[in-house]
Amino acid sequence: TTFADLGLAQWALQTCKELGMRKPTPVQSHCIPKILAGRDVLGLAQTGSGKTAAFALPILHRLSKDPFGVFALVVTPTRELAYQLAEQFRALGSCLHLRCVVVVGGMDMLNQAQSLMSRPHVVIATPGRIKVLLENPDIPPVFSKTRFLVLDEADRVLDVGFQEELSVIFRCLPKDRQTLLFSATMTSELETLLELSANKAYFYEA
Ligand code: AMP
Repeated sequence: TTFADLGLAQWALQTCKELGMRKPTPVQSHCIPKILAGRDVLGLAQTGSGKTAAFALPILHRLSKDPFGVFALVVTPTRELAYQLAEQFRALGSCLHLRCVVVVGGMDMLNQAQSLMSRPHVVIATPGRIKVLLENPDIPPVFSKTRFLVLDEADRVLDVGFQEELSVIFRCLPKDRQTLLFSATMTSELETLLELSANKAYFYEA
């Protein structure tokens, strides 16, 4: 398989080439076409498997066709992971003038509220901080048109007891979004989450 076989736009193929990504990894060749086709996905894949590009590329492909509102919310368990994800999104989206903001604990909340209101394309957040912002009545509902919710390292997000945060996130995003779950392991919490998924999820396991 090549990146061209997966249905990605020309700019994305060019970006992959420039970043030295010669051919898709297994998680990418399986998940990218399903995400482009509008399916929810649960991917069991380790760090280093190329899972970030497996969701970032199809999200950016769709964004390049229809840049409306906050397009994607990516939730990840730690600040470091949030910054790493942002770095990959910015690299992969470099020719789209991508606006990507990171919303994590320990940083100034007023600044974060303002950056959310600047209508970024992609928001990368840790669960605790995004919950507080979502519940703040002074912030307009910037996620009302969001097309993608990604839970990265979903097993860890669920394991640390972020159920309450997740239920707020699920409540504040539109029902007709795509949900993409990426996790190193399968857990019963993930199974429960999957059952809540509105459109039958594609299951990928390495
Ligand atoms: P991840 O599993 O998302 O943490 O990605 C691990 C690393 O692999 C990142 O630094 C990516 O830039 C790199 N990578 C992702 N996809 C590919 C690919 N198809 N070919 C070569 N490197 C890749």
